[in-house]
Amino acid sequence: TTSRETLGFQTEVKQLLQLMIHSLYSNREIFLRELVSNASDACDKLRFEGLHNAALFENDSDLAIRISFNKEARTLTIADNGIGMSRDEVINNLGTIAKSGTREFFSRLSGDQQKDASLIGQFGVGFYSAFIVADKVSVLTRRAGENTDQGVRWESDGGGEFSIEMVDKTTRGTEITLHLREGQDDLLEGFRLRGIIRKYSNHIVQPIVMKKEEWKDGSNVISDEDETVNQASALWARSKNEITEDEYKEFYKHVGHDYDAPLAWTHARVEGRQEYTQLLYIPARAPFDLYDRSSRHGVKLYVRRVFIMDDAEQLMPQYLRFVRGVVDSNDLPLNVSREILQESKDIDAIRAGCSKKVLGLLEDLATNEPEKYAKFWGEFGRVLKEGVGEDFANKDKIAGLLRFASTQADTTDEIVSLKDYLSRMKEGQEKIYYVTAETFNAAKNSPHLEVFRKKGIEVLLLTERVDEWVVGSLTEFDGKQLVSVAKGGLDLGKLEDEAEKQEQEKEAGDLKELTDKIAGSLTDRVKEVRVTHRLTDSPACLVADEHDIGGNLARILKAAGQ
Ligand code: ADP
Ligand code: MG
Repeated sequence: TTSRETLGFQTEVKQLLQLMIHSLYSNREIFLRELVSNASDACDKLRFEGLHNAALFENDSDLAIRISFNKEARTLTIADNGIGMSRDEVINNLGTIAKSGTREFFSRLSGDQQKDASLIGQFGVGFYSAFIVADKVSVLTRRAGENTDQGVRWESDGGGEFSIEMVDKTTRGTEITLHLREGQDDLLEGFRLRGIIRKYSNHIVQPIVMKKEEWKDGSNVISDEDETVNQASALWARSKNEITEDEYKEFYKHVGHDYDAPLAWTHARVEGRQEYTQLLYIPARAPFDLYDRSSRHGVKLYVRRVFIMDDAEQLMPQYLRFVRGVVDSNDLPLNVSREILQESKDIDAIRAGCSKKVLGLLEDLATNEPEKYAKFWGEFGRVLKEGVGEDFANKDKIAGLLRFASTQADTTDEIVSLKDYLSRMKEGQEKIYYVTAETFNAAKNSPHLEVFRKKGIEVLLLTERVDEWVVGSLTEFDGKQLVSVAKGGLDLGKLEDEAEKQEQEKEAGDLKELTDKIAGSLTDRVKEVRVTHRLTDSPACLVADEHDIGGNLARILKAAGQ
């Protein structure tokens, strides 16, 4: 056995603790939500590992979270009979912040307590929130399946270090005891704790158990009887008309690791070749790691109510990676692993079903709640655009959801749908025109637009990198071709009248001597020099050949070293 040792916290943890204690005080209740959520995760992990190794249950498979308090000692204890931790796990999990993005976390802090508190769950630093209300935290834990002498006690006062020692622990799982700071005595009241639990943790799947309290002879007496405080059922398994809006929102905060309400959700039981339930949410705000490929917190996979894994990437295509929620399958085997998922046809069917459902929800928002859709677009539009190239089966649906800036409003606001564009096309116009550029100003002031402006033809202004990808994959919409105004001979078709065309040909002939001369002096820097009518103010402009890559894409590729 090891005797008691004192170890130092990682620097980031020290900073984090300072922050917890000094700046999140007005949101102090969240500590309970975080500790309960960890206890719940630990029970989920045990259930999952127990599928392969039943001995881990140690003849006790009723998983639960227990909350108790001691008024005299001024302590509050959160206990679970989940997976528990070994000594090494304790040191790693409760002494460091291993996850990438710690620096990002600190840089995101705004000083606004509400906002900052919302970052804690997202960044996976929930345990340390215990120090908001406690000046000493004691963790007693033993990993499932280990001998009773493999218990570990971890203790810290939230300063620079913590102590750790091996102890006996008969029951598996984790017990966290908070020694409350001065002035936190309201947390030693049963009704107050019940209120917090119901507010933040009602939809934790495991029962959260407390001792029943009775009013006897003018005072509150704690009985020996247990009582479950939370709803303790899988929300998604209940029928839609029994679930209130608030319950859906509360559940989202739990699965989405978000303190804000979601923007929208869809809940459905799917029958047919694959039977499953989906409860999928669209967050109101993009998470910090939307563009980080290693980000977590996607959709959770359950099989017949049993938690299988977090962030099952196979359940959602990349371009819908912002979706949060739960998929509960009736058909997948319980011992399904990430490797199996990668090759499973059943998962392909579920992913296709989920994608369709989310796109349907977005279409619904776009049609019926345009303001919400605009909000969605502002947060996630750039990610959704990736779908045009990624999801061939839903390309048209996705194209219908895209929003662009255009010469119609001439502002950076992305508000024009392709459908809007079609409805404003000029008599005789057969194509959808766009210009791509590195910045909005470059696009807006592009000399290529001059003739379009003169003729009052709308042009989409595309200025994001992903737009090149969009127009590379989306060649037409509703039977109308998308064409760059900066490419080729620019045949405006019926938009030009016969007289204009004849005049252009005549001028080209008249000026042949001049264009030859210019071509001669530019030699191999250009393919051809032509007389053009696409300009009204500028003397000259560069265009790419019909089948060449455009100037903007060429710039992007060059910057990427290709
Ligand atoms: P997160 O839950 O997002 O990983 P936390 O700071 O809340 O971040 O917890 C850190 C880690 O500590 C968890 O990932 C888990 O490995 C471990 N842990 C915390 N509480 C428990 C518990 N009750 N049982 C087992 N492990 C726990
Ligand atoms: Mg946590």
